[in-house]
Amino acid sequence: MSAVTYERVGKSFGGFIALHSLDIALPDRTFLALLGPSGCGKTTALRILAGLDMPTSGRVLIGSRDVTRLQPRDRDVAMVFQSYALYPHMTIADNIGYPLWIRKMPATERALRIREVAAALEIDRLLERHPRQLSGGQRQRVALARAIVRDPAAFLMDEPLSNLDARLRLTMRGEIKRLCQRLGATTLYVTHDQAEALTMADLVAVMQGGLLQQVAPPDEIYERPANRFVAGFVGNPPMNVLRAIVGEDGLQVGGVRLGLDEARRQACLDAGAVEIGLRPEDLGIVEPGTPGALAGEVYVVEPMGNETLVDVRVRGERLAVRAGRGFTARIGAGVGLAFDPANACFFDKTGFTVVH
Ligand code: ATP
Repeated sequence: MSAVTYERVGKSFGGFIALHSLDIALPDRTFLALLGPSGCGKTTALRILAGLDMPTSGRVLIGSRDVTRLQPRDRDVAMVFQSYALYPHMTIADNIGYPLWIRKMPATERALRIREVAAALEIDRLLERHPRQLSGGQRQRVALARAIVRDPAAFLMDEPLSNLDARLRLTMRGEIKRLCQRLGATTLYVTHDQAEALTMADLVAVMQGGLLQQVAPPDEIYERPANRFVAGFVGNPPMNVLRAIVGEDGLQVGGVRLGLDEARRQACLDAGAVEIGLRPEDLGIVEPGTPGALAGEVYVVEPMGNETLVDVRVRGERLAVRAGRGFTARIGAGVGLAFDPANACFFDKTGFTVVH
């Protein structure tokens, strides 16, 4: 397996810029999730590494090899598509073995390798069948088997779970993570699902409008988002963002005044913080009128089994709150929302995080 590097990679389609000067250095044996909303350029970034699209500027390296101008077949990467792209007329064994056949591996050696990989993915009983005789999850495993069969330098996966039902997605999410860890695989994984990115990846690259917003380990993306976009895209429900004023006497937000430790206060003043971001789990529902708590009223209560999501309206804004299991309240009930500003993010007027 090899490291992967994007160096100032740009891509335009006609006059439209799909990627602006992308820089990512992915260490060997690392799992990177490319995360972002539809159209942000993540598939384009993956296709450029696969050799399916040519960048307009910059270069891509696999290990120390500049592969920018190489044909896809000469790049030593294996791609898993959303559609699986299995050959319907071939057996599962032939589908898995196809990359080896192309490379002219002798039949007996090929058969052994197919068995080995099929056993690892627990599809060895399906080898004589055809794709149409398999469930979605089984087809997904065949697509993965075909990718790992020849030990490529990197795996590229484009939304490989999006055609599966919710339950199977959860199972396969864990399976793919386990497989990539066991193989020590360098993996680039495109998804618009923040939960997939956070749970599977060593590093998450968040993109928007063809621009890389942040690349960092999942806990850092969650705890210390680089800007308002990342803060809002990662987390379910997303971070609540409210207007805030930071002055000599501390913090003013939603009609309450709170103290702020000196370092945070100074950093907010220096950078001109205008908004505060609070995760739903950092807001606590307390008695109405509690000093220092935001005054709100319950908009809706959603029991989730293990926890309860509560929407609270504060001065016309809806804030998401993660409350305990069994929490109940009637719609319109007055509540207080308590929080510790030490857990908050602060954003400047351009949306950059100035303190987290
Ligand atoms: P999705 O999750 O919807 O696949 P994405 O983040 O993967 O989105 P890309 O497929 O990389 O986005 O597309 C980025 C932008 O580039 C989009 O606005 C898309 O319309 C545009 N684009 C992609 N391929 C082409 C093409 N061949 N010709 C013109 N525009 C393209």
